[in-house]
Amino acid sequence: MEAHTVLNLIDGSFSPARGGATISIYNPATGELLGTAPDSTAHDVDAAVEGAARAFAGWSALAPAQRGAHLHALAALVERDAEAFALAESRDTGKPLSLARSVDIPRAIANLRFFADAVCAQHTETFLNAHARSVVHRRALGVAACISPWNLPLYLFTWKIAPALAAGCTVVGKPSEVTPITASMLAQRSIEAGLPGGVLNIVNGRGPLCGAALVAHPRVACITFTGGTATGETIARAAAPSFKRTALELGGKNATIVFADALHGEQLSKSVHGVARAAFTNQGQVCHCGSRILIERSAWEIFVPALVARARALRVGDPLDCATDIGSLISGQHLLRVAAAVDGAVRDGGHLLCGGSPLDPSHLPEQNRAGAFYPPTLIEGLPATAKANQEEIFGPVATLIPFSSESEAIAIANGTRFGLSASLWTGDADRAQRVARQLDCGTVWINSWMLRDLRAPIGGMRASGLGREGGQEALNFFAEPVVVVTHEEPQ
Ligand code: NAD
Repeated sequence: MEAHTVLNLIDGSFSPARGGATISIYNPATGELLGTAPDSTAHDVDAAVEGAARAFAGWSALAPAQRGAHLHALAALVERDAEAFALAESRDTGKPLSLARSVDIPRAIANLRFFADAVCAQHTETFLNAHARSVVHRRALGVAACISPWNLPLYLFTWKIAPALAAGCTVVGKPSEVTPITASMLAQRSIEAGLPGGVLNIVNGRGPLCGAALVAHPRVACITFTGGTATGETIARAAAPSFKRTALELGGKNATIVFADALHGEQLSKSVHGVARAAFTNQGQVCHCGSRILIERSAWEIFVPALVARARALRVGDPLDCATDIGSLISGQHLLRVAAAVDGAVRDGGHLLCGGSPLDPSHLPEQNRAGAFYPPTLIEGLPATAKANQEEIFGPVATLIPFSSESEAIAIANGTRFGLSASLWTGDADRAQRVARQLDCGTVWINSWMLRDLRAPIGGMRASGLGREGGQEALNFFAEPVVVVTHEEPQ
């Protein structure tokens, strides 16, 4: 396979890091070296921010429809090359190719198209009273720093850059240093699509060096970040003294709540499939994964064996094999973290129902034996306050917790420092609405998981973040409302 030489895109040109330092990029499912990316420093960040600052006046002066047309052109090129993007995403992350094909890349295309259209549908608010006419103008902020994680690389990168560009900001994007390939492919397509130089800049590098320089840069007007809660805290602290507008999408410890009334007849298998999907999709490396499964005591005997059977039936293996459900974790290092969290849960008194140790390499195809494969793991018997029920593991690991009443389920679900999302599985529509209103999190799915309307705001409470992405919320984040008030003579 051809090696990827990822370069920075700065002011319309591709370049390595000044000084030439690089970071190696690996396929975690094989251990194969995929290529290198720039190990950028503050010098590179500075050049990118200056380029973005120069391009701002021209880009923000375009009509929304003109900016939207550029985003549509970019989306068309990603769609044209969707298979190459999906293959690159699967190799870079270890996720199943089928998932990259069906979710990651189509969603990246949809993000670009959605915000291209949404900005054209924006209207100017006007408030009239007896004395004044107040017109709200939304003025793009300037240079937006867009920092994204490794779990859904192009999906989350485009989710940030699309509203920023649509709103009239110019962008310096920093993809995760672990998974920089599809953002670099996007950079190439942005040139082909005719995006003016400096409008979209992409710098690659490590968080504490390149990311921190971007956050601290005085000409960056706003920061949108998705990643871990500890990193979010560091970024919020760094941004505070200069009052940069900051949006943080952070971790979760999301509850999946299963009521006995969700298990009648054919509902049982639908609920089991849905709950397993919420726990294990993308190897459990989705911030919205339901990693705490709360089960009504009266349903335990029916639901738990069915869920364990489903988890065992998921096929772990070569991400490029279409039959694979669970691919590789992001790295061998992350596999060690996941394994240590499971070992800790067992030491704390947890009982393993399935999984619980890295996959025996002899069960894997030859080319995957150096990969980071961990099987779906279910643990019961831990109190709700145990570490495994409080801290994000970010792997294919879920705990099972019994409850006896609606109020107990709500208290357990709300009993962590996180507040990202939850899913409820119930056959009682009134109960679903009643419980949903009492959960302290940004999104509640009922008998479903990860269904999205891109117009709806998404984000977290407490340690899961600050602000919302999606729809108008995202467009408004990148703009300063300026109210122009005209005196109205009484009629
Ligand atoms: P991470 O926090 O380690 O890194 C995310 C990004 O931040 C990377 O690009 C990294 O280089 C950069 N970064 C790291 N330190 C930085 C610093 N000091 N200054 C500026 N940038 C810095 O997260 P990760 O390990 O890549 O991703 C996994 C985490 O992301 C999980 O906790 C997951 O829950 C979270 N996540 C949240 C959402 C959401 O929408 N809430 C979505 C996906 C992932």
